[in-house]
Amino acid sequence: MTDRNRRFLLKARPNGMPKTSDFALVEEALPDLQPGQFLIRNHYASLDPAIRGWLDDAPSYMPPVALGDPVRASTVGVVAESKAEGFKAGDWVMGLNAIEEYSMAQAGGFSQLIDIGNVSSPTHFLSVMGAVGLTAYFGVTEILKPEAGQTMLVSGAAGAVGSLVGQLGKQAGCRVIGIAGGPAKCARLTDDYGFDAAIDYRGKSAEALSDEIGAAAPKGIDLVFENVGGIGLDATLLHLNRFARVALCGLISEYNSEHYGARNLWQLIVHSATVRGFLISEFLDRFAEGAAAMAKLVGEGRLRFDEHIEEGIDNALPAFLRLFEGSNQGKMILKLI
Ligand code: NDP
Repeated sequence: MTDRNRRFLLKARPNGMPKTSDFALVEEALPDLQPGQFLIRNHYASLDPAIRGWLDDAPSYMPPVALGDPVRASTVGVVAESKAEGFKAGDWVMGLNAIEEYSMAQAGGFSQLIDIGNVSSPTHFLSVMGAVGLTAYFGVTEILKPEAGQTMLVSGAAGAVGSLVGQLGKQAGCRVIGIAGGPAKCARLTDDYGFDAAIDYRGKSAEALSDEIGAAAPKGIDLVFENVGGIGLDATLLHLNRFARVALCGLISEYNSEHYGARNLWQLIVHSATVRGFLISEFLDRFAEGAAAMAKLVGEGRLRFDEHIEEGIDNALPAFLRLFEGSNQGKMILKLI
């Protein structure tokens, strides 16, 4: 085993879209393992839009990544060495660590053992059975609570969370409409994920989007799974039905810019609608249940999920930026070994 660790550090707080000079790839000596600690050889890191928020020095649900620290990310890997009870060399673990080749962890911390025996790839613990899958699962089953015959609109629909949400909506008997960027992604929505209709938002005004949403949802919208925000959300709000529910999962269109806000909030009053923001961590004590439910659907061949794997820690930034260009085709994962 090497005693060196390559780490992707935050050097400066990004202003707008992150750039190369905001980060540094460094090689450091691995510190000695202390009692209670174990060392993880990270195989894969999950590149999530949420990481962008953690780079800002702004109040949030987690402290910002400190300047000089490695960029926080969920990883899956193998215990390389252990002085912690319950973890031995060779065990597979997942946890909230960082974009680095090795992470130091401790028993009782954010890393847990995983059984990769029943999955075709450990990456599934970062996608369909990880936070992304659980966000879709609990967002649909606990926040939106769909009923057969309702109309559900999903934004960011061709992405990791959105593609799963749409499929869960279809299984609940909803008419599901997805908004995504570009004709290829829209074709994937209907052809691969079974959405009833797809709307390409690129290059469109709020008015044009509203017209297309109206055409795709002639009976109005009962349920919204919002991943994007901005003019798409504003256009969506114009089509809500009475007592509609909006699950506010993410606002990716605003992560690298000033908040756009929402200008049609009055529609919530007009339609007695509810907006419910949520974080997947709310459901921490039910993760095992959610992962088992998603694994069962995958096992039965009822859920399609895609992973987009980029290779090498040197590619951390370009791979991360793909999330904001929209050039990821599924859950964005960085392969580290
Ligand atoms: P995705 O796999 O969906 O990748 C991001 C996608 O967002 C891109 O492919 C792109 O798709 C779209 N996008 C990026 N920038 C813009 C923009 N300016 N306007 C419109 N669309 C844009 O990522 P995830 O599935 O991991 O995440 C989706 C959302 O879910 C994010 O908002 C994320 O923060 C949120 N999330 C929230 C969680 C929670 O606990 N609340 C947990 C996990 C994720 P396209 O090509 O279609 O534009």
